[in-house]
Amino acid sequence: MPDGFVNASKAYLELTDEQELIISQVDGVCREVRPIEDGCYLDHRYNGAVADLFGQARLLGLPISTLYGDGQGIDMVTYAMAIERIGREGTGVRTFFSGHVSLGMLTVQRWGTEEQKERYLPSGTRGKKVFAFGLTEPGAGSDPASLQTEFQEAEDGFVLNGQKTWISNGSVADSVLIFAYPKGRREGMCAFVVDRDSDGFSAKPIKNKLGLFSSDTGTIYLDECQVPKENLLGPRGKGLSVAYSALMSGRLSVAAGCVGVIQDCLDETVRYSQLRVQHGKPIGMHQLVQRHIGRMEVNLQAAAMLTLRAAVLHQRHQDQPDSVATREAADAAIAEAKYFASNASFEAADSAVQVFGANGYSLENRPGRHLVDTRVSRIYEGTNEILEQKIANSLLGKGFEAYS
Ligand SMILES: Cc1cc2nc3c(=O)[nH]c(=O)nc-3n(C[C@H](O)[C@H](O)[C@H](O)COP(=O)(O)OP(=O)(O)OC[C@H]3O[C@@H](n4cnc5c(N)ncnc54)[C@H](O)[C@@H]3O)c2cc1C
Repeated sequence: MPDGFVNASKAYLELTDEQELIISQVDGVCREVRPIEDGCYLDHRYNGAVADLFGQARLLGLPISTLYGDGQGIDMVTYAMAIERIGREGTGVRTFFSGHVSLGMLTVQRWGTEEQKERYLPSGTRGKKVFAFGLTEPGAGSDPASLQTEFQEAEDGFVLNGQKTWISNGSVADSVLIFAYPKGRREGMCAFVVDRDSDGFSAKPIKNKLGLFSSDTGTIYLDECQVPKENLLGPRGKGLSVAYSALMSGRLSVAAGCVGVIQDCLDETVRYSQLRVQHGKPIGMHQLVQRHIGRMEVNLQAAAMLTLRAAVLHQRHQDQPDSVATREAADAAIAEAKYFASNASFEAADSAVQVFGANGYSLENRPGRHLVDTRVSRIYEGTNEILEQKIANSLLGKGFEAYS
């Protein structure tokens, strides 16, 4: 890791002293996390030190209001830059943040009652409690409106039945946002905060994933699961709106994380190309190796700029949550950033593996890990096929929706 790490996105901004301080704090914790992550990754062990170390450094609450626990109330641009730095440590480390902060805590902050925010956010900002976001089901992925999980009203709350799968932090989370329809209906979806110690809640990790070996992905079972009435999240019947707003924050974090992945691949490739000698000279002097580096650099800058633009528009949307125009602008910009950055990060990882040759084909080295890990960024939080259509629909307008 270079001594003076610089975020790609910093090139376009005059950072305030506060932003510089936050990014350097994040950088410091990332350096502590790296050796632990190396061990966990190779042993296929969940890396709980990410929550502990970032929690102790008071960095899990970066975008959470200062009213709650260790919330720091930073804007979306600064948060995206922090995630960019974290993304460099690997998609697994960043996925923890996406699940816990972007999809979890930010959604409680946006939609929760004051009582829910006071109950959940302080411990979340300190890493004492971990969040997850449970939308996907075995039969409902790209089409969340087709989900099967149901709830029934009980005397003092709700009873939930169903299954959620491929949930980041799913088997370690203390609280999961769960989306369900009223029993027997396929409209009026509601969102709930479901605590893992609720009766009828169980979870287990998904094994044999392609990558993300230090990051938890789980399946959650809700079997007559008892949820108190005060755990309904957001207005009754507005579950899909809650889910879609969460996915905007989540996608932005994926885009920012991918920028960090590209940066890490580029730095590793430049360093290796200067040191590795073949045919009597450093491989960096071979023009076809330079082509890999040139492409990576252009993709890095393009992904960073698209992500910054998306963060600016997302902040504008947060400042004017009732404006449909700002929401739609942010939604499209975030989709574009996630689409481009996830494709570019996979291409960068593939190039880095190629330049490393046989050494690239090992999980001991960072390019190989990025290759298997960043692949998921083209799948989760809206597949890139879905995002391409979302982007096109934002231009074509009503009546041209490719899916509903
Ligand atoms: C490691 C990991 C972590 C995840 N974390 C979470 C999480 O924290 N919370 C959560 O809720 N989910 C999570 N997911 C699930 C993820 O969001 C879904 O996998 C994703 O939405 C796609 O759903 P699917 O896998 O069911 O694919 P499907 O929806 O079955 O899609 C299969 C293929 O068909 C294409 N397709 C589907 N519909 C269309 C269409 N209308 N037009 C064009 N192409 C289409 C897709 O693009 C894809 O290529 C995670 C997944 C992974 C792998």
